[in-house]
Amino acid sequence: MLTCAEYIWLDGTQPTQQLRSKMRILNLTLGEVNLAELPQWGFDGSSTNQSAGHVSDLVLKPVNFVNDPIRGDNNYLVMCEVMNADGTPHKTNTRAWLREEMAQGAEKQEPWVGFEQEYTLYQYDRPLGWPANGYPAPQGPYYCGVGSDRVFGRELSELHALACLEAGLAIYGTNAEVMPGQWEFQIGYRGFSSESADPLNMSDHLWMARWLLSRLGEDMGITVSLAPKPVSGDWNGAGMHTNFSTKSTRDEKAGWNAITVLVQAMSALHKEHIAEYGADLADRLTGLHETCDINTFKMGESDRGASIRIPEPVSNKRCGYIEDRRPGANADPYRVSARILKTLNGVEKTNYISG
Ligand code: ADP
Ligand code: MN
Ligand code: MN
Ligand code: MN
Repeated sequence: MLTCAEYIWLDGTQPTQQLRSKMRILNLTLGEVNLAELPQWGFDGSSTNQSAGHVSDLVLKPVNFVNDPIRGDNNYLVMCEVMNADGTPHKTNTRAWLREEMAQGAEKQEPWVGFEQEYTLYQYDRPLGWPANGYPAPQGPYYCGVGSDRVFGRELSELHALACLEAGLAIYGTNAEVMPGQWEFQIGYRGFSSESADPLNMSDHLWMARWLLSRLGEDMGITVSLAPKPVSGDWNGAGMHTNFSTKSTRDEKAGWNAITVLVQAMSALHKEHIAEYGADLADRLTGLHETCDINTFKMGESDRGASIRIPEPVSNKRCGYIEDRRPGANADPYRVSARILKTLNGVEKTNYISG
């Protein structure tokens, strides 16, 4: 059957890689599509900041796919890794870094993640719902609000959530945010035993969900900004809180110890983590607006001014997951996950060596 496959990849724009995609007609076996059936494809890397003009051909290697909720039945969104012509990962292929950390031991720890993607909608060069001149009334009534005087862009947020569901992406929920025109959706562990919330799959899902959001915005004349501090002053920034757990942190007996050891290791590597958590992070991590300042590492139970927050049910049960509140909305989930797993792998090695 002839179907449309939208091949999606990360380009080489610095400091923040952007999404690119193109469509190809494939002849696929109806109802039984698997990854092996999706062919590799090429693209012009010189137009995506990924190569020089004289050696421009790069390879798109399909690594994950879901239903395309826009084109409908039997069409697909295909997440790709960018490879060099010789089959090695391209230097902009951050998913390969994450694969490497999974293979270095983290996979055995059965890591699960959940990303809270905040974003800001824009129309006419200003956040959606903002007046043409001046500012809206101060923050307070907007977070999880209802009513056309306090919520702007619900139509797109809803359309996106339903599109994610139809696609088969692991969307967990949505909410209107503290700054008017700002929203959040979460992708990650949902407590459904049948699905995998491993960092590779969930990061693929987040990238495809980001693609869908911008794509649906096209039809409404609305753009999506992942800037970590879209409006300076007394307005909340936009983050990508990353919730993380392993077999050990989830264990009723060993959980609290595993959490403490992991957070200690993360504390010692604060700068190294910050370096992977997105561009322009200092603008958002000021110590105000529910953040911890960029030069301080602080763990806190139920504390939204902490770098790492232990959610209340977790401190209660002494096991579960941690919330890393540092990543910016523009962070690459492959890089954030890879950095956390690298720290985890370090902890595992130390524990192993010390017996
Ligand atoms: P917040 O209270 O910080 O706004 P949300 O309700 O927006 O939290 O999101 C909760 C996030 O925690 C979701 O992304 C979900 O996938 C994630 N999560 C829940 N349990 C786990 C777990 N055991 N391991 C990893 N992530 C988890
Ligand atoms: Mn949230
Ligand atoms: Mn939020
Ligand atoms: Mn959060």
